[in-house]
Amino acid sequence: MQAARQSIALITGGASGLGRAAALELSRRGMRVAVADLREDAARACADEVVLAGGQALGVAIDVTDDASVDAAFRRVEAELGPVDVLVNSAGILNVAPLLDYPLDTWERVMAINVTGTFRCAQRAGRGMAERGYGRIVNLASISGVRAGIGRVAYGTSKAAVMGLTRQLAMELGPHGITANAIAPGPVVTAMTESSYTPETRAAFEAMIPAGRLGTPEEIAEAIAFLASEGAAYVNGQTLAVDGGYLAGGVART
Ligand code: NAD
Repeated sequence: MQAARQSIALITGGASGLGRAAALELSRRGMRVAVADLREDAARACADEVVLAGGQALGVAIDVTDDASVDAAFRRVEAELGPVDVLVNSAGILNVAPLLDYPLDTWERVMAINVTGTFRCAQRAGRGMAERGYGRIVNLASISGVRAGIGRVAYGTSKAAVMGLTRQLAMELGPHGITANAIAPGPVVTAMTESSYTPETRAAFEAMIPAGRLGTPEEIAEAIAFLASEGAAYVNGQTLAVDGGYLAGGVART
């Protein structure tokens, strides 16, 4: 059982896009939030936004590819806010390039952040959660982990791995009162994606999405907040597509 104290959520990649929206939403739902990002200034700025909106927040530097950095960020959060009950793994990168020319070092960087970074943070958070017998882990996968896309060989593979990792986490951490689930967002305009959309690619996506539009960061944050809640205790190892119905169809609307 969770202690009666206010839950503490650490959000990697929290300075921007979906992570930022999650920080604001989890705070709105009463959690204290640690906004952790490679860009420390941006993490602090997002934490200030949460505080301005009436919440409690801390902005911390984290590089999810580095053991020492991850450990230092968790230690700081534990010291200044308390033990981490909720981990949202939103740090990620997208690199679009043709498969036959895809640079191996870029492949390795995408895997290091999107897959190994997610594992590293889940393992670090999971140890404390297991000791306390409670935890929620929410990983950001993608519809690209389910459907292949041109130029997304590393990204799509990394997001399929995040779904597999989520099941492994659920299996081994479930007996400790911890759930691990993933969200597979459809296309949402954020810093990550805005440069990869042309009016044509955006229109092509919109034609494939039953909702007829791209998603918003706030719509993804709602789903993250559900999976991060105590009430989601019996949902474990799942990937929830939040994509306006894109994966349900797969053909253009006529
Ligand atoms: P974003 O670029 O707006 O935010 C990602 C954040 O991660 C940035 O603030 C960046 O500084 C941080 N980051 C990058 N490398 C890091 C590292 N090594 N350590 C710590 N932080 C690091 O992107 P977003 O659109 O908010 O995406 C968030 C997550 O959602 C990603 O995992 C992404 O793959 C996934 N996703 C996004 C979309 C979309 O359409 N935006 C769709 C599906 C999945």
